Amino acid sequence: MRDDGPIWYPFTQMQLAPEPVQIVSGKGALLFTADGNTIIDAVSSWWTNIHGHAHPYIRQKVHEQFGQLEHVIFAGFTHAPAMHLASRVTAMCGSDYTKMFFSDNGSTAVEVALKMALQYHQNLGAKKHRIIALEGSYHGDTFGSMSVSARGAFTAAFHDKLFDVTYITPPLPGNEDICMQELEAALSEGDVAAFIYEPLIMGAGGMLMYTGMALDTMIYTAKQHGVLCIADEVMTGFYRTGKFLAGHYANHQPDIICLSKGITGGSMALGVTICTQAIFMAFYSEDKMKALYHGHSYTANPLACAAANASVDLCLQPGFDHALTTIASRHQHFTAALQVYSHSDIPVVKNIRQCGTVLAMDFVTSNDTGYFNSIRDMLYHFFMKRGVLLRPLGNTIYIMPPYCITNEALDEVYNAILDALALLAEGKTLQ
Ligand SMILES: *Cc1c(COP(=O)(O)O)cnc(C)c1O
Repeated sequence: MRDDGPIWYPFTQMQLAPEPVQIVSGKGALLFTADGNTIIDAVSSWWTNIHGHAHPYIRQKVHEQFGQLEHVIFAGFTHAPAMHLASRVTAMCGSDYTKMFFSDNGSTAVEVALKMALQYHQNLGAKKHRIIALEGSYHGDTFGSMSVSARGAFTAAFHDKLFDVTYITPPLPGNEDICMQELEAALSEGDVAAFIYEPLIMGAGGMLMYTGMALDTMIYTAKQHGVLCIADEVMTGFYRTGKFLAGHYANHQPDIICLSKGITGGSMALGVTICTQAIFMAFYSEDKMKALYHGHSYTANPLACAAANASVDLCLQPGFDHALTTIASRHQHFTAALQVYSHSDIPVVKNIRQCGTVLAMDFVTSNDTGYFNSIRDMLYHFFMKRGVLLRPLGNTIYIMPPYCITNEALDEVYNAILDALALLAEGKTLQ
């Protein structure tokens, strides 16, 4: 990228990155570029978009709200869009959840959850401050959320500033027993305040997946030790895994839930942290010191709440489920088509896995060097040339489409992947 503009882009080594593609409009799962090309957004614009771009209903509701009230301070004041959203989303999470705390994004939703959990114990006079997290997890880019995320290349510059966390092996297939042993050992330390996890799918860590049964066992075990469970559903929430929450595949339920990405349908920034009445009651007191002192300028922005309410309306429409099951069953069929490439003498793809609308697979490379794997850039550009936005995590390719994606567009995504695999199987380079 030339160094001649005022913008510093996220997650980008600006000197090595090509010029960014300018997008002028979007519709459904499609993005339209300034130079007249069409791109299929097969990653839902960083996992946020669920109903498609520039959705007319969300636009109308935000427009109506703008005519009424664009923003108001949220301490000492409230408004209908926030009240409406809080009562609906807490109910959708389950009957145990009674309170919703607003912030701006996934990282802040996690920050709030960590503060809730730590201060909960403090308010009750318990000395519990240790946090357990899953090895390989990702919870955001602010310091608290970085601290509970796996240490890696993205956090390397800050390691001495991050607080200590006890990591356990995630319960990926085959590792369930090790996970439970490490969880038991970590819990027996006695000073554990909370256990934070991404349920069913560990997203940024490589779309690693585990079962609802493994999730259920972890929550049950943590709760038996009086440890609060924080479900980071920032990516998995809002039907990404087929149900409203990934946690709904388990019987035991967490104390605190973080939501963000899909909440406004992918249209505006909003994060929420939802908790049980028991958490809230530890803060509800005559003592001002027991309050949760956290807030942002744009907390519960009415426009973002209106977008979120519109998105929830769309999720509750008849036929919405059909889109989810269609994508899931099409992914399953595609998985069958991939078998020739994973079961051949020299397999070019492995670990094909699926959960709801998410399909992931690992491309086989001679040197697996994680996120900075050189095949990553080759694959990214190969798909972009075909008008398909897939953003590999190292050698992991995943499809995470808006739920409104058409069969034709999804076929184009599948075919682009098959083209890449066919070339690799013939020993050719991707171009
Ligand atoms: C993306 C993500 C976050 C961080 O959300 P931001 O809105 O990018 O700050 C946190 N947790 C999980 C599981 C995520 O996927």
